[in-house]
Amino acid sequence: STMPPLLCAIANAGRHGVLAKSAVVMERLGQVDAVALDKTGTLTEGTPRVTDILPLPGSGLDEERLLALAGAAEHPSEHPLARAVVRATRARGLILAEATGFVSSPGAGVTATVDGHAVQIGSQARLLPEGSPELDAMVRSLEGGGRTAVLVLRDGAPVGVLGITDRLRPDAAATVAALTELTGRTPVLLTGDNERAARRLAAEVGIGDVRAGLLPQDKVAAVRAWEAEGLRVLVVGDGVNDAPALAAAHTGIAMGRAGSDLALETADAVVVRDELATVPAVVALSRTARRLVV
Ligand code: ADP
Ligand code: MG
Repeated sequence: STMPPLLCAIANAGRHGVLAKSAVVMERLGQVDAVALDKTGTLTEGTPRVTDILPLPGSGLDEERLLALAGAAEHPSEHPLARAVVRATRARGLILAEATGFVSSPGAGVTATVDGHAVQIGSQARLLPEGSPELDAMVRSLEGGGRTAVLVLRDGAPVGVLGITDRLRPDAAATVAALTELTGRTPVLLTGDNERAARRLAAEVGIGDVRAGLLPQDKVAAVRAWEAEGLRVLVVGDGVNDAPALAAAHTGIAMGRAGSDLALETADAVVVRDELATVPAVVALSRTARRLVV
């Protein structure tokens, strides 16, 4: 064919399952020398499940009431954890009350009014860092098992904890190995989730550098710090919380299937085949294309 090499590269990337938004993106992908990966929805499949429903003694709630309260507040959210909570309520045939005044804080959680009660859902670190010994023990035990512990507050008081877990993508370890080989540097994990669960998962895929408990702006700061050292960073993420880092990075790739609209709009390229291993494949591809051009 007579297509210019970079257009060939875009077409090839498409065949590999990655949609690059321009020829310039293919060029930039070939230049990256460090990679930052998000955890939930990027290293993991992005379809988490609620595994534990733990009402606090004294809350007056049973499992179903706790779940229904959380499901109602999470219903308007597009966050993968929120969808997991809503799926769990549906699976039990629970009816969700309507939530009003819904507010989502990326990287932290949600708040809404349900049945006249102010409901807050999110990590203990953000909502109630000074918990009780009882609450701390519940959260620690869930996180030690690699789960995300999500705290539910009603009118400012903790009423329960949900344990949520997501499966590692089958190609996560191979992807980390391939990116390490390509860049000469092991990718770094950037996550808003808790450190215990993040380290456990990172160890399974061969990542040692884990930055946990990050807000969206903290992910940006991490990327800027590497770029200040002269590294050209590729960020791979899926969430609203990843969008600022995707924009700040030398190159940003969003996971397409479960990715938030904001991440898809902000990224330079989108993984449409829902395989993480497409990422090292297109980096390798764009390096080949660059050699053809120069
Ligand atoms: P990640 O960086 O791993 O994709 P996020 O930044 O999206 O994770 O979320 C970080 C943490 O904030 C979650 O682990 C959870 O504790 C809390 N959180 C964020 N959104 C929600 C939500 N809708 N419901 C419950 N918890 C949430
Ligand atoms: Mg994510």
